[in-house]
Amino acid sequence: MSSSNSLPVVVLSGPSGAGKTTIVGEMLRNSPVPLALSISATTRPPRPGEVSGDHYYFLSDEEFRRRREAGEFLECAEVHKSGYWYGTLKSEIDRIHAAGSWAFLEIDVEGALRVMELYPQAVSIFLETPSAEEYERRLRNRGSESDEVIQRRLRTAENELKYAVSYRYRVVNDELDRAVREICDILSREDAGSHAG
Ligand code: 5GP
Repeated sequence: MSSSNSLPVVVLSGPSGAGKTTIVGEMLRNSPVPLALSISATTRPPRPGEVSGDHYYFLSDEEFRRRREAGEFLECAEVHKSGYWYGTLKSEIDRIHAAGSWAFLEIDVEGALRVMELYPQAVSIFLETPSAEEYERRLRNRGSESDEVIQRRLRTAENELKYAVSYRYRVVNDELDRAVREICDILSREDAGSHAG
């Protein structure tokens, strides 16, 4: 555990389109420890099928700013220079820990670095695509983004790679089942470590 009186925080980052959403779903189903997803707040409009309070809390710019000024966020950032804000609410971590689970944060590099500052024991995991070419192929296959957005995400990913060294673990998402198993092993080891000595 991260300290004697608090449950762990798990932080996962990696380029969008790298298969993070699928990994997150599989982690929640297969985790060897009780793991609950921290639902972030965002000013981005919902994509088709997205429901507020499910993967995100969708907030207006005003509401987001009000909560930011009230100090309700553990971290928040404008992601991918998109003009949209994303943030982890402190109340999410409290809710998850009160339920006896490990908090699972799927957030960008900037937010992750901030969380690592606040929780030095955080289980931080950087998810990598096997290669830049493979990453571009996955982004294009997804078919949901314009060329301009894809180019911006490729630049962001290249930039974010520099921060991969700040994470305690790096996992290559070459094959879904293997990557999920590797992350499960990390969590098992962290759990065993927390009970040792
Ligand atoms: P998307 O709009 O595709 O759902 O997410 C875009 C990016 O926002 C992803 O890279 C994701 O990691 C990041 N993100 C999602 N929630 C948060 C959050 O609470 N804080 C930060 N800093 N980034 C987030």
